[in-house]
Amino acid sequence: TMAHSKAFLVLENFIGGEFVPCSSYIDSYNPSTGDVYCKVPDSGKEEVEAAVKAAKDAFPIWSSKSPLERSQILNKLADLIEHDLEAFAQAESKDQGKTITFARTVDIPRAVHNFRFFASSILHHVTECTEMPTMGCMHYTSRAPVGVAGLISPWNLPLYLLTWKIAPAIACGNTVVAKPSEMTSVTAWMMCKLLEKAGLPPGVVNIVFGMGAKAGEALVCHPDVPLISFTGSTLTAQRIMEKSAPHCKRLSLELGGKNPAIIFDDADLSQCIPTTVRSSFANQGEICLCTSRIFVQRGIYNEFLKRFVAEAKKWKTGNPSDPEVNVGALISKEHLEKVRSYVKKAQAEGARVLCGEGVDPLALPPGNQKGYFMLPTVITELKDESCCMQEEIFGPVTCVVAFDTEEEVIKRANGVKYGLAATVWSGNVGRVHRVAHRLQSGLVWTNCWLVRDLNLPFGGMKASGIGREGAKDSYEFFTEVKTITIKH
Ligand code: NAD
Repeated sequence: TMAHSKAFLVLENFIGGEFVPCSSYIDSYNPSTGDVYCKVPDSGKEEVEAAVKAAKDAFPIWSSKSPLERSQILNKLADLIEHDLEAFAQAESKDQGKTITFARTVDIPRAVHNFRFFASSILHHVTECTEMPTMGCMHYTSRAPVGVAGLISPWNLPLYLLTWKIAPAIACGNTVVAKPSEMTSVTAWMMCKLLEKAGLPPGVVNIVFGMGAKAGEALVCHPDVPLISFTGSTLTAQRIMEKSAPHCKRLSLELGGKNPAIIFDDADLSQCIPTTVRSSFANQGEICLCTSRIFVQRGIYNEFLKRFVAEAKKWKTGNPSDPEVNVGALISKEHLEKVRSYVKKAQAEGARVLCGEGVDPLALPPGNQKGYFMLPTVITELKDESCCMQEEIFGPVTCVVAFDTEEEVIKRANGVKYGLAATVWSGNVGRVHRVAHRLQSGLVWTNCWLVRDLNLPFGGMKASGIGREGAKDSYEFFTEVKTITIKH
């Protein structure tokens, strides 16, 4: 029987170099219309088992290739994705709800760059060597790939974050089983079609689609997957730690944030305001690095608020394929409801909503009436203890509050369970360094936002994660080091 109408895009798992259909499927929605348009395999233990086996079988060949051979394949894959950039961008926008502009200029170019970056960086690592002349010994370290890497990624930057894991994992000589988010699987599936053409042997990259609790957990629990690289929520990470504990797995966890922006009265507001609007609302606020608590020094508070709200109101919400639009659709109906519920909770606590949700009219084109849209929303007059100031909302909502002193604002900025990214705005170089050093945050951007050098460590403190990713950090995570001593 035909279980699926031909109108749906039907994805298949990619195992051992072959597309493999699944016995059951999950509906996947187009967030900007609310329609089901795609069927995603609802994989479980059986599919994960087959993928892990394929990855294990491919490991001896792949791990014995030279870094240069692997590098050439990664570069070829980057070229192939880049060649199809527009098709990937269209697919990412349709699947995720993000604007076509964002997908075209951020998501897909970065996915291409991830492969090029690790294709290059894998050629430049050196290991350590020390000597102990009095013992007649020298020591050196050697690094080897770990084996089958389990990679689990979220829905906000689908191909971008998945390739940020696949690229270093395979550059180091591991083989992988990846499980993208069930809500955004299309671009990963499209990429599978290019792997063979790039020269990747079958089984090096396997992709199993499906739900976290089923496919994801089967991967985490698999005894032959010694390492899990996960990006997603803190709650899921806790579950992954529990489930991998019996196997003592190596874990890299990139989790949520509640990122502060600290704006001193000597900040250049002409730079700070548009950047902070962007850091609050880019990708519908669905970036782990988005600003959601803005601390403004008392002397400029009123002026900042006025100009910030005016700038936020310029952001156009609507059809993601309209190049004029800045804010697309949120990922799902449930997520939209959750984000909205935070605004309601804030109002119930006596906070004031200055623009956006419930305050301004949201006019949508006829085709997008059932999409999951929400206006950029600015909330003020909140207590630091309020849930909008403590919990990750992960939508187009930002809170603005006043502060008086440097000492006070550091304490308040650090007063959440998360510690991923902070921004500091000031023209005083001494202050910028002092504050940056004292913030509990894996990343601190001063007088800018989201400027990344992939060479350097990326990751969070406290509930925002364990481990770092970057040229050296990902290399260390995806390899096992050995110290060898030679007596001469
Ligand atoms: P999520 O934790 O719900 O899901 C992430 C992935 O884990 C998905 O593929 C999901 O299917 C899978 N998963 C869910 N339950 C699982 C389980 N029990 N076992 C194994 N896998 C499971 O997160 P999300 O809602 O997709 O993404 C949003 C979150 O990701 C936010 O908290 C955001 O801050 C965070 N994030 C962090 C970073 C970072 O680099 N620190 C980057 C992007 C997103």
